[in-house]
Amino acid sequence: MNKYAVIFTVAALLLAGCDKLSPPPSHSQAWVAEGKTMGTFYRVTLASPPPDALVGLQEQINQVLNQDNHELSTYLQDSVLSRFNQYNGAEPQPISSAMADLVSTALRIGAKTGGAMDITVGPLVNLWGFGPDKQPVSMPTQSQIDAARARVGLGHLRLSEDVNGQWLQKDLPDLYVDLSTLGEGYATDHLAALMERRGFTRYLVSVGGAVISRGLSPQDKPWRVAIQKPTDREVDAQAIVDLQGHGISTSGSYRNYYELQGKRLSHIIDPATGRPIDHKLVSATVIATTAMEADGWDTGLMVLGTEKAKALAQQQGLAVYLITKTDRGFETWASPQFKPFIIEGLDDPREKH
Ligand code: ADP
Ligand code: MG
Repeated sequence: MNKYAVIFTVAALLLAGCDKLSPPPSHSQAWVAEGKTMGTFYRVTLASPPPDALVGLQEQINQVLNQDNHELSTYLQDSVLSRFNQYNGAEPQPISSAMADLVSTALRIGAKTGGAMDITVGPLVNLWGFGPDKQPVSMPTQSQIDAARARVGLGHLRLSEDVNGQWLQKDLPDLYVDLSTLGEGYATDHLAALMERRGFTRYLVSVGGAVISRGLSPQDKPWRVAIQKPTDREVDAQAIVDLQGHGISTSGSYRNYYELQGKRLSHIIDPATGRPIDHKLVSATVIATTAMEADGWDTGLMVLGTEKAKALAQQQGLAVYLITKTDRGFETWASPQFKPFIIEGLDDPREKH
């Protein structure tokens, strides 16, 4: 798989440690592992690793990704999450502490975005043809939307902890929890933690649109992580950041969509209306301490739209980069916390601060 195969699948494209026009790092300087996971691609790049430090690393990467899939996948019928979704009772169900951390992050960000990020939104995602069900041939009716909305809401989910561990509980028998919107960040954090455990300090890891990089690239320069220009054809960078050990994630409405009756429908659903988002914000990128945190916020900010996303970023002190469609093209906005990470792209003449 060449690097452009990865670029076309993810929202935050990776120019892994090299200029876009220069060749990728040679394998004497870099070790690369890549493949498919969670319906997307993962990649691990290590700069100048001593060969004897690599023993068993690929197997450990596979183990980490398999473990996360075993917890979160909605495609695997026997994943922890699928079993929770299939269970129709109200008794607390056991989950791992890592998964409890994920759910608690999702609930916290859900609350802070006023319910814009909602991990129970699945019935609506499905109704609009972005889940396991196929795309509708006509617009869903208001009564179909209302019926799906009755099965959605963070208030139906409860996380608890006691001496025996962590538990997840629901008060609606057919509540459908989908953690995939934070899943890429979760897996990225786990890959980064594996690199740390193995003693690597110069790495770039990504799952889908979530990325963490630390240290210097094989060229002894900052790793270059690019925020993609919001088109469905171009593979071009809007801005390039140096993450310095942080996590980044981008959510965009310009890739995953289809047209129905002349209207472009995005895969991101506003739980408040029960409909795909319909505004001018085309991508939201967040940098945070963990990739999971970034991955949770990007979707919530995408739902809120440019003005509310800016206000929330400022209120919460988040590192956020927004790309908004205007009559003249695209306008970018970076919060004060985001700007120090940018190594290219701040001098865009259309940019408004
Ligand atoms: P992607 O990398 O595919 O753009 P995101 O992290 O933006 O992924 O998550 C989008 C996915 O999250 C959708 O495909 C859908 O399954 C789900 N989703 C859609 N709307 C919401 C929402 N308001 N809150 C949480 N998850 C959502
Ligand atoms: Mg997300």
